[in-house]
Amino acid sequence: MTAIKYKAYSLNNYLSIPQVEKLSARAKRNIEVVSHVFPFKVNNYVIDELIDWDNYENDPIFHLTFPQEGMLLPHHYNKMAGALEQSPDKIFHKETSNKIRVQLNPHPAGQQEHNIPEIDGQKLMGLQHKYRETVLFFPSSGQTCHSYCTFCFRWPQFVGMEELKFAMKETELLIKYLEKHQEVTDILFTGGDPMIMNFKVFQKYIEPFLEDDNKTNIQTIRIGTKSLSFWPYKFLTDDGADDFLRLFERITSKGINLALMAHFSHPRELDTQAVQEAIKRIKRTGAQIRTQSPLLKHINDKPEIWAEMWRKQVNLNCIPYYMFVVRDTGAQHHFAVTLADSWEIWRKAYQNVSGICRTVRGPSMSCTPGKVQVLGVSEINGEKVFVLRFLQGRNPDWVARPFFAKYDEDAIWMDTLEPAFGDSFFFEEEAEMVYGENYYDPQVSSFE
Ligand code: SF4
Repeated sequence: MTAIKYKAYSLNNYLSIPQVEKLSARAKRNIEVVSHVFPFKVNNYVIDELIDWDNYENDPIFHLTFPQEGMLLPHHYNKMAGALEQSPDKIFHKETSNKIRVQLNPHPAGQQEHNIPEIDGQKLMGLQHKYRETVLFFPSSGQTCHSYCTFCFRWPQFVGMEELKFAMKETELLIKYLEKHQEVTDILFTGGDPMIMNFKVFQKYIEPFLEDDNKTNIQTIRIGTKSLSFWPYKFLTDDGADDFLRLFERITSKGINLALMAHFSHPRELDTQAVQEAIKRIKRTGAQIRTQSPLLKHINDKPEIWAEMWRKQVNLNCIPYYMFVVRDTGAQHHFAVTLADSWEIWRKAYQNVSGICRTVRGPSMSCTPGKVQVLGVSEINGEKVFVLRFLQGRNPDWVARPFFAKYDEDAIWMDTLEPAFGDSFFFEEEAEMVYGENYYDPQVSSFE
């Protein structure tokens, strides 16, 4: 395959993308205004191989990567547009965008403290230990992506709100922590996108797990990544592509499970020769590829899209894993699908695929107490209810116990749901004691 060189575009240079000539003046203005608040980055693969430019207004990948007017509420849009018109002063623009950003729930109160472990009295800022068996690690060199998703709940990490960034420079502390916590069997490398790292840096993080004197109890290494959909050349022709694959092989030969938690939002992302070849190469190393995405209005809010996506993934030897509910931050108002509709979409998609695709779980909300799945809508003693359960819980004992919330056709997140029977959900007292009143807030730690 011919090598293709990565080229990124953002607000500063997107006008030089030849296809951008097709955009209306209004679409360009939306990009200018909205990308002053939310991060914007796209690359030549997404532009040349994924977007249908003749139909960009309805194109899911255009919507996934190019800022859209509706991502800002009208008063925020007008404020930002007004600031840009009023003055060329970049500091003034930044002040205006920061004022808007803090109103977009960039990082819910108190949650930064909830999941961050300590060792020898020192907080490990690049780690989150939310569930007993799994530690999330945010390598400092993996805090960006090949392209940015417009809906991304990690947006504060990419717009220079530094105090919101989880990152850790050293692996030593990570290893020390894992040696001490033998209950941790899974480590998830996340970001940004860890696959943005060059091979040498990435290897530094992985090598300690492959050493003979490794005293951690890590049995699975997961890598959360959208590189297969945004830059498959990472595994094909980029410098270090073969080294990555050899390292993957060393991990699996060592008896450690290696799982790429691949983020695919639309079946289109699975169609190119590049992504299909990259998947094949990764699979040959013995690694698994598990797939996940949020359910997003304008992008994938139809059951046919999900059914097609799961089928294609299975045909490519990937394992459908999660459908998530979009998070309570940033442009949630633009992308959110109600819980009731999410379940309908889920159900119809699930009914339309064979058992082999039904490894997937959802729709699932990653909130502070755990991952809550909407099992469905039902009626109990004449009352319409949501049936819910924890797929993951802060307290492992909460997992897999069904519980009920009053049906609310407008609800989009756990925090507005009320218990259907009694005054509180079964886990609420314990969760409030440990995490305070805001325990439903979404986590920066994402899908996991
Ligand atoms: S959703 Fe993932 S790939 Fe997309 S911008 Fe956010 S961190 Fe990057």
